[in-house]
Order: sequence, then structure tokens, then C-alpha cells
Amino acid sequence: MIDRVLQTAIGRLAHLGSRHLRLILALLLMLGSPHLLADGSSSLSIDQIQGRVDLRPYLVLLEDPAGEIEFDRVRELDSRGELTSLGDASPNFGFTDSAWWVRLTLYNDGDTARRMVIRQDYPLIDHLEFWASTPAGWEKISTGDRLPFSSRPLDNRQFLFPIELPAHSESRYYLRFQTEGSLNIGLYAHTPEDLVSMTAEEYLALGIYYGGFIVLMVYNLIMFMTLREKAFAYYTLYVLSYGLYMSVHNGLSFEYLWPNNPWLANQSLIVLLALSLFGALRFTREILSTPSLCPRADKVAYFTEWLVLASLLISPLLSYKTLIIPMAALTSLVCLEMLVLGVLTLFLGSRPARYYCAAFGALLGGVFAYMLKTFGLLPHNALTQNAFQVGSLIEMVLLSLAIGSRLNEIKQQNNLDALTRVHNRRYFNEQIDIEFQKTVRRNLPLSLLVLDIDHFKRFNDTYGHARGDQVLRVVAQILSRSVRKPGTVYRYGGEEFAVVLPGTDETDIAAVAERIRSRVESETAEADRITVSVGAATQRAERFRNPQTFFDAADTALYLAKEQGRNRVVQHDHLASEQAVMALDSRSSGQTNMG
Ligand code: GH3
Ligand code: MG
Ligand code: MG
Repeated sequence: MIDRVLQTAIGRLAHLGSRHLRLILALLLMLGSPHLLADGSSSLSIDQIQGRVDLRPYLVLLEDPAGEIEFDRVRELDSRGELTSLGDASPNFGFTDSAWWVRLTLYNDGDTARRMVIRQDYPLIDHLEFWASTPAGWEKISTGDRLPFSSRPLDNRQFLFPIELPAHSESRYYLRFQTEGSLNIGLYAHTPEDLVSMTAEEYLALGIYYGGFIVLMVYNLIMFMTLREKAFAYYTLYVLSYGLYMSVHNGLSFEYLWPNNPWLANQSLIVLLALSLFGALRFTREILSTPSLCPRADKVAYFTEWLVLASLLISPLLSYKTLIIPMAALTSLVCLEMLVLGVLTLFLGSRPARYYCAAFGALLGGVFAYMLKTFGLLPHNALTQNAFQVGSLIEMVLLSLAIGSRLNEIKQQNNLDALTRVHNRRYFNEQIDIEFQKTVRRNLPLSLLVLDIDHFKRFNDTYGHARGDQVLRVVAQILSRSVRKPGTVYRYGGEEFAVVLPGTDETDIAAVAERIRSRVESETAEADRITVSVGAATQRAERFRNPQTFFDAADTALYLAKEQGRNRVVQHDHLASEQAVMALDSRSSGQTNMG
């Protein structure tokens, strides 16, 4: 037991690269007990294997710091018991300059020969050798992602080595791992049936995952081409590079996209990572409008973008090993900035930020669920196993929704009057049509007020244009305060406003109009002494044939209010006779025009 612990400790120290310390420890151990460094592994009987088995507990390893030990020498060292078991420690060595040799012993107790497949699950290994003893001697397969994909004995994103064990026999296998990136040894033995069903399920899941990415990418590309909104382009870049990055990671792009280009298989990782960081950051700044909402944080993000671009440009020149640590730091920085920008704009009231933060939450939730699964706090099933993928797919969908929300925001900006922040005339023309149609369909009343500031030209001439603008803002505020949803206020012209009140009848509109008139008069009594004239009309029972005649009626009433001395409300319905209306209508025809 203690041997095990100590050997594990040695293994751990080896990861840290404390080679000297390890040597001293090894010497101490040898002094203490001559058997300690002996092969701690037990060989595995494949008769026990139903489905699959994790081979890691059965491995013995040898570190080759200079990477130059020959195969024959490894076998010699093995026979002297110099290969060590890792015990329960996991053979993930991170970044290491050493080559690692692994030996595995399998035996077949049965009366028939058996076929098995050895699988190495982590696909980003530069050089991987597999040695098997056959009646003709030792046979070697050389593969890894520095060699063309065709070097693999079986076409798969992971490394698969088929083996055959004769009846009543013991077989030894050696593997040699060498890689610039992170060295993760994950070896499993499968029955052929188990491998087939596992692969089918796995490729189906991967197909769904990348299918989702492709749909989102194509959709957003089309959106960009039709709407010319930059956010769609940045999003497309992000999805494309992130999707490809993930596919490099799980070995799919090497299998399907560039099987004959090992250089790309290795170098693309950094390029794609940098591209997706750039796309993500650009996208974030665009849809959250950070340059206007939080300019300081935006400056930092802008600077980071340049940093990412610089790393993108130098990445083909430097090795993966040199770049990966700074890139990991840069990735953390970008993620942190994105989170900060999202939360900041959320608190500043941005609507797209809601979707954006939800998207981030989905991604973090996925990572969290995966971690809980790893620690055994959540059950191991298809959902938790792929929690990270599921999370990132939901993230992508929510980000796509965030663009929609941003577009809405832009559209609303286009409907607002810059000076008074109430809706503008273009939006009025749209909405009056819509409300008019609704009224006809639902047989509900619809009221309209048209207001005009009295003698405003004189006011401007006396006090100046700037103070005139201030008055327009004040009047717009009074109007907005006096009208409850779904009532809406519009600036119809220079000093003319319109108020549309769905569901309001003649009696109610008279009260609203009078309230507005008196509020303007009393609230400006001290300084500006402003008054307004108001014309009102109510549509019910299809009294007016179309929005134009409806508007003309309110405008006619306004004209009458001016005629009668200003600072008053006139309702079209109360106009004395049909003739009076006709007379006024003929007066106004050609002058009032809604368009
Ligand atoms: P009435 O009582 O008959 O409506 O008289 P009026 O002077 O208000 O009407 P008129 O249509 O002759 O003049 C409208 C004035 O509104 C002209 C212009 O000086 C002023 N005006 C229009 N748009 C703006 C604006 O955006 N800002 C300012 N300060 N004044 C504006
Ligand atoms: Mg006017
Ligand atoms: Mg006026």
C-alpha cells in the first residue's frame, strides 16, 4: 500500500519536472526495499471484458526525458522491472518535453482467439507508436496528428488499434507518446461490438452538435447579407471559428476537413482560438453598444482585440508550445472582459444584455454541470457527459437572439424624435394605420388628439430657438405624463404633437385633452407662458372611412380651436352641423396631409 502511495508521489513529482528530487526519492526507495520499483501492474484477462475497460490501472510507464530510447532498450528496461505503475494517479502529464512509453499486458484464458480494439481517447497526440508482438515478430504502427490521417489503422477521430489474442496466450503491447501539447493518456480496450455502438452514438451526438453550429452560421450569414448588420458578421465569424476550434479538439476536422495536412491540424488550433476570441469580443461590443454605454470598459476591450489580432498574426511563426500558455491567459482575459461588459450593460438597462448574460449563464452552467459530474455529484449520463457542448449550443442560440433584440433596439431608435424622445412622424404614420385597422376589426373606439403650440413663432422670435427647443421638450414630457399605455405620443411636426389613444371614447378623450391643455398652461405659467390648442376626433362605428379622413377630422377641430381664440380643446364630434364640417373640410383640403 505504502509502495503505491510513494510510487504515485514519484509520478506526481515527475509531472512537476523535479527530476533530481525524483531520483533521490527513487534511490531512497531502493535502499529501503529492493522490490519497490518492480512492476506494480497486474495484467488483464480479456475474458473479464464485457463491453469496455479502462486500461489506465493496468499500465506501466517509462519516462524518456530526451526522447531517444529505442524500442529494444525499453523492452530490456521492462524486463528489469524499471517501468512503473501510476496506480490511481491519472496519466495526464500536461506539457512535457519527455516521450512516454507505456506497456500493457493482456491475456486470453479462453479456448478461442479474441479480437479487441485498443482506443486512445485524446486525439491531439503528435506522435503515437503502437507495438504489438505477432508470430512474425514485433509489429509497429506509427501514427499521430503530425502524420497524415491515413496512417491510422482504423478511420476514427480517436486512435484505434485492432488486436487479436490467440487462445490461451499472453500478449504485451507498447505505446510511445510524444507531443508538444498537453499529454493525456486515456487508453481503453473495447470489444468490437461495443466500439461500434459507442462510435455510432458518439458520431450522432457530434453530428447534432455541429449541425446546430452550421444552421446558426448559415442563418446568420444570410441575415448579414440581407440586413448588412455587422453584428451578424461577427457572430458568424465567432460560430465558425469556435465550431472549428472544437472540431480540431475532438479530432473531427483532421478526419474530415484536412486529413492530409498535419501542419494545419496542429497550427490551426491557435489561429482558430484567436479568431473566435476576436469574433466574440467584436460581437460583444457591437450588440451591447459598449462604446456608448460604458466607454472605459469598451476601451479595454478594444485594446484586447488588438492583442488578439497580434497573436493571430504571429501564431504561424511560433510553435504551439510557445503560444499556448500566453493564449490561455488571453482567453481568460477575454472571457472576463465579456462577462464584465455583459453585467455592466445589463445594469445600465440594455435589453440585448439580458440575452447575452443568459447565454453566458448557459455556457457556465454547462461547464459547472460537467464538473459536478466529474466529481460524482451529478449522475453520469448523455446530458451531463455532453453538458459543455449542450451549454455552448444553447449559448449560441441565445446570442443569436441577442442580435434580434439589438435590431429591435435600433429600430426603436429610428422611431424616436431626437429632440423630444417621443415617437416621430414616420412611426405615427405607421401606427395610425395599424390602430385604425384594429379598431375596425374589434369594434372598439379609437381617439386622436392633434396639438399645436400657440404663437410659437413669436416665442422663438422673443426668446430664441434654444429656449424654444426646451419648451418642446417640456410639452412632450407633459404629454407623456398625461397619457397611459397603450396611448402613445408623437411629435408630428415642428411644434405639433399627436396623441393616439386606443379604446378611448368621446367622453374620456375630452377629459384627457382638457387635462393636457390645462397642465401645459399651469406648468409653464411662471416662466414660458405657453398654451396649446387641441383638436380631438374619435373613431367608432366606422364613422371615418380611412385613417386620412380620421386625421383630417382632428386637424379640422384644431383649426377651429385656433379660430376660436387658441388655448382650448375642440372635439370634432361636437361640431355644430354637417355643413360646418364640410366648410372646414374644404378649407383644410390640400393643406392637411398625413403623409
Ligand atoms: P399658431 O398659434 O397659429 O400655431 O402660431 P405659431 O407661431 O405657433 O405657428 P406657425 O406655424 O406660424 O409657426 C410655427 C413655429 O414653430 C415656427 C418655428 O419658429 C417654430 N418651430 C418649429 N419647429 C421648431 C423647433 O424644432 N424648434 C424651435 N425652437 N422652434 C420650432
Ligand atoms: Mg404650427
Ligand atoms: Mg403653433
